[in-house]
Amino acid sequence: MSAKVPKKIYLEESEIPRQWYNMRADMKEQHAPYLHPGTHQPIKTEELYPIFCEELAKQEMNETDRFIDIPEGIQDFYRIFRPSPVIRAYELEKALGTPARIYYKFEGNNTSGSHKLNSAAAQVYYAKQQGLKGLTTETGAGQWGTALSMACAYFGLDLTVFMVKVSSQQKPYRKAVMETFGSNVIASPSETTAVGRAILAEHPNTGGSLGCAISEAIELATGSEGYRYVLGSVLNQVLLHQSVIGLEAKRQMEKVDEYPDIVIGCAGGGSNLGGLMSAYMGDKLTGKKGPHFIAVEPASCPSLTRGKFAYDFCDTGKVTPLSKMYTLGSGFIPSPNHAGGLRYHGMSPLLSKLYHDGYLDKAVSVEQSKVFDAATLFARVETILPAPESAHAIRAAIDEALKCKESGESKTILFGLTGTGNYDMQAFMDYKAGKMNDYIPTDEELEQGFSTLPSIPGIQ
Ligand SMILES: *Cc1c(COP(=O)(O)O)cnc(C)c1O
Repeated sequence: MSAKVPKKIYLEESEIPRQWYNMRADMKEQHAPYLHPGTHQPIKTEELYPIFCEELAKQEMNETDRFIDIPEGIQDFYRIFRPSPVIRAYELEKALGTPARIYYKFEGNNTSGSHKLNSAAAQVYYAKQQGLKGLTTETGAGQWGTALSMACAYFGLDLTVFMVKVSSQQKPYRKAVMETFGSNVIASPSETTAVGRAILAEHPNTGGSLGCAISEAIELATGSEGYRYVLGSVLNQVLLHQSVIGLEAKRQMEKVDEYPDIVIGCAGGGSNLGGLMSAYMGDKLTGKKGPHFIAVEPASCPSLTRGKFAYDFCDTGKVTPLSKMYTLGSGFIPSPNHAGGLRYHGMSPLLSKLYHDGYLDKAVSVEQSKVFDAATLFARVETILPAPESAHAIRAAIDEALKCKESGESKTILFGLTGTGNYDMQAFMDYKAGKMNDYIPTDEELEQGFSTLPSIPGIQ
């Protein structure tokens, strides 16, 4: 009887993962090498040291170690908010009338309200170990800046966050939370950097952009002794840290004798999905049976479903290494809707490779109002207010469960509930007022983005 499965599945202290899982060690083929943006030659680990702290640069390039120890200092921080529960969605199943068994891994139970704290903890820990003074970063929707602020407060490191000006005006509470944790939050573009001043001189009334905030954060980090710039998604190191989600989830599911038929995650830069599917992907990569993996992205920013698999810059400022990934072009400007943390032009090179080679089975794109229909139903029956990003995964999980209702199959579905929507009420208000923007870019608009892809002699 399914009722024997508890609503929430936890882990004992002895069952908590002590190591992260590095999917690359089990991949038959690696993603194409990162290229130096100037010379177009493959990057060497040492060349990453001015950007990332050394241990993280090594993790970024590590293709051989299957498991990497989670240092005690990070484990202690994880214990404050992990393990996160796997929750059986009994109420949602009932509301849908589906024979499917739906589970979700809930990462929103910390003040930052998202899974980003898993990697923030690791990145700040290694920066502290290396004796750095502080970090700089950018934040758009605000989750990454908040997570990093919490980790910097915990480990005792300075943090400057360049927050896209429109976001800092729209989300003053996010800014206040970061400041409460001791971070210096600067609305971008700002007068504090040369690049910010140049942009302001040209466009005094601009609301800013992520690309501009990244450029300011990098300028401040590279110009300040003992500082480094950090990123909250896309990179291999971030997927590695996020593997804790999947390692926990697999053990939790085993405790109730479940192995998912379908694993679903929303995909912005690919870190939560890469993390959630990691342990199960290991099964697939090593020739065992694996689940059917589904990535869900907004129809307004469809990098996997409509993008090109090509070398591109990870940032709009064109200073980061070139990565081969599914991308809309670093010059692609998504319509200003509420997909928040999913509005990124590219996709993790690792996830892109798995998708290209067919290990990540399927990508779907969904429109905003359907996402909020799902978010609202989920909130009412499961009583958790989901982040709009997470609601993309809810939408796909509901659609799969409804297919089961039609066919009468009782599949097991696991999806990632990456965070809470407590700071996203403007989006819920717009939805309620019928003002949701369902814009889907035309092929011509996508072509404009593709025209910004770099040309690399002999390669593309
Ligand atoms: C940032 C964010 C995402 C998307 O980022 P990924 O790197 O694709 O995981 C999804 N959900 C929430 C709540 C986020 O904050």
